Amino acid sequence: MLTKTASVIDGPKIKTALPGANAKPVLEGDERYISPSYTRSYPLVAKQGRGIVVTDVDGNEFFDFSSGIAVTSTGHCHPDVVAAIQKQAGELIHMSGTDFYYETLVTLAERLSKIAPMPGPHRVYYGNSGADAVECALKLARYHTGRQNVIAFHGAFHGRTMGALSLTASKPQQKRRFSPLVPGVSHVSFPDVYRQGEQDALACTRYIEEKLFKTTLPPEEVAAIFVEPVQGEGGYVPAPPAFLRELRRISDEHGILLVADEVQSGVGRTGKWWAIEHMGVEPDMVCIAKGIASGMPLGVTLTRADIMNWVPGSHASTFGGNPVCIAAALATLDVIERQGLLRNSEEVGNHLLHRMGEWPKKHKLVGDVRGFGLMIGIELVKDKATKERAPAERDRVVELAFERGVLFLGCGANTIRVAPPLITSKQQADIAMDVLEECLEIAAN
Ligand code: PLP
Repeated sequence: MLTKTASVIDGPKIKTALPGANAKPVLEGDERYISPSYTRSYPLVAKQGRGIVVTDVDGNEFFDFSSGIAVTSTGHCHPDVVAAIQKQAGELIHMSGTDFYYETLVTLAERLSKIAPMPGPHRVYYGNSGADAVECALKLARYHTGRQNVIAFHGAFHGRTMGALSLTASKPQQKRRFSPLVPGVSHVSFPDVYRQGEQDALACTRYIEEKLFKTTLPPEEVAAIFVEPVQGEGGYVPAPPAFLRELRRISDEHGILLVADEVQSGVGRTGKWWAIEHMGVEPDMVCIAKGIASGMPLGVTLTRADIMNWVPGSHASTFGGNPVCIAAALATLDVIERQGLLRNSEEVGNHLLHRMGEWPKKHKLVGDVRGFGLMIGIELVKDKATKERAPAERDRVVELAFERGVLFLGCGANTIRVAPPLITSKQQADIAMDVLEECLEIAAN
């Protein structure tokens, strides 16, 4: 147990007004040069990261409970990950696995095969991002099945390239003025247990079988169902196990591939390697990115080997599986295993969920708390009875927390995502939660 004094010493340290004097010119330059499509919630200008702490250009120290959008799984600049990157950069930075061979492409594939959420043999495709991993799964599903159509869910976020964007159904600005997108995508409701209760789960799958398949979408023309086992950008909403089991049954019945998008929920974030393991369902393909390389850009599409039956030239990407990114991924998996970070994520997550379990009763704004491990959503509402969403209050809480030195991000319309690195301790989590509780009270009054 840390003493109160130790907690204060170890907590965030805000020393200047925010933004500080050094941050201001960066913000001005950004305003002038950088794509206005980015969505910044507050003016953090990061300079350095160590563990769960990010230091800004003015020397302010923040607790990063966003992990750079669920990416820095082993914390910022974990020494083993840094050493692996440095060593690899000194040996070979690039050779393009699309046209040449190198050993670590195979080494990482073997490692991933051992922890895959479905039985092997497996094959992997390497890309550069989450969208890349999804794009590959979409193309491969069409290629392998010879079918054109796919099913995805409202609230889903699968990325922003044209294929991945066609599956995305999270916010209208993500799609506005970008049509025509890839045709053949049917979007179906994702169960919302908080708003509609448990029975909603099976209403969603009944809709697929009894309406969609019997009216507009012949099941034998469906290549794949894309699902996030825990919806990320859509609001940190876990899929009910019964819903995923039904998706598995429907897929099996009609020769459809079940694709788990674990870009945000994977690599230990939920206390297991893959969130879908919580639901006891085996997918046919898994899309992986974000946490896999602790901040280096790497996307992976992991499939049952028989599915990946395309021919040379069908799909590839110059930088995909870059040696430095692979080295970072191998070091990340080592650190997660050696430091017992799956267990830590589960234990600290349970500690948080236990504490937050009281919040719907304790805090006026909190309607629901849900999640697994270190992937927890706190949904804010204006009124507990009507469950009317509170987006402005959510934004205010996130901003207040920033001013007090804790970095959160929103997701969905009115949810705060709690997604610290997997190395976070209970004491650090409590410090961040003390801040969050204070902000929830200020924003409510
Ligand atoms: N899939 C999911 C579930 C995501 O959360 C994201 C990004 O947030 C993506 C895909 C796209 O990943 P990227 O931004 O690396 O393209």
